[in-house]
Amino acid sequence: MPHAHPPTAPTRRQLLTRIGTLAGSAALYQAMTTFGHAMGTDFRGPPQLAGAKRGTRVLVLGSGLSGMLSAYELRKAGYNVQILEFQSRSGGRNISLRGGDTIKELGGATQQVGFAPGNYINPGPWRIPYHHQGLLHYCREFGVQLEPFIELNHNSWLHSSGSFGGKAVRYRELASDFNGFTAELLAKAIDQHKLDDVVSDDERAHIRQAMKSWGALNKDMAYTKGNTSSLRRGFENRRVAA
Ligand SMILES: Cc1cc2nc3c(=O)[nH]c(=O)nc-3n(C[C@H](O)[C@H](O)[C@H](O)COP(=O)(O)OP(=O)(O)OC[C@H]3O[C@@H](n4cnc5c(N)ncnc54)[C@H](O)[C@@H]3O)c2cc1C
Repeated sequence: MPHAHPPTAPTRRQLLTRIGTLAGSAALYQAMTTFGHAMGTDFRGPPQLAGAKRGTRVLVLGSGLSGMLSAYELRKAGYNVQILEFQSRSGGRNISLRGGDTIKELGGATQQVGFAPGNYINPGPWRIPYHHQGLLHYCREFGVQLEPFIELNHNSWLHSSGSFGGKAVRYRELASDFNGFTAELLAKAIDQHKLDDVVSDDERAHIRQAMKSWGALNKDMAYTKGNTSSLRRGFENRRVAA
């Protein structure tokens, strides 16, 4: 009888790759955080390197962030450092593209960037979370200018030819309506004692009050056209509101 191989557990890398393939980058990031790979560091300052033997030479492969910072700190500590970079530019995965730039993609296609002056895109990393203390330290040290990253603009337009009759809608309208109708539904369910199993008498008043404010409901706990909801989703005629 052939010997059956016991199933082998996937390595952490294989598991993360599968999660990324099946569920996308948000799930992958979540999984990496759970494994402790995407966490903030306990950075308290740059490494205090010292004691380089005179004339010791170090070769760093790659001029991405890690290569360049290693070289910087090693050089400060007295080593004789050289970086070898495979590409014709430094920065590794960090790159900003502006009008007039040319970039060759991994698949071989060449893109000519035709942005108007002042516009750019960072096709690699573009966000620096507040807990990347190490990176922020070096940005300050080198005087790298940072820009605020606007994650949510309530006034932005959402447009899809397959939704809302093809008309563009403001994010604030959609979000307010979703919250408002959900809050109204929950308040109704509470008032009709449909949630008595899970909501105690004490909690009922708190949740109703919270729903009223979260969903911009009127005094009758309804999400309807009027001043309360318009202050949240915007006025039809903005000049009147102003
Ligand atoms: C699409 C994308 C979005 C991202 N978004 C974010 C984000 O928003 N925020 C964030 O914090 N991080 C983000 N990251 C992750 C971030 O880009 C990386 O963690 C970081 O750039 C890694 O830096 P590194 O120096 O370790 O590697 P790399 O930047 O990959 O640098 C390695 C360098 O080594 C060179 N090299 C490789 N092998 C050799 C060799 N044998 N000889 C010579 N040179 C060699 C390469 O050409 C490259 O220049 C993103 C990454 C990608 C791809």
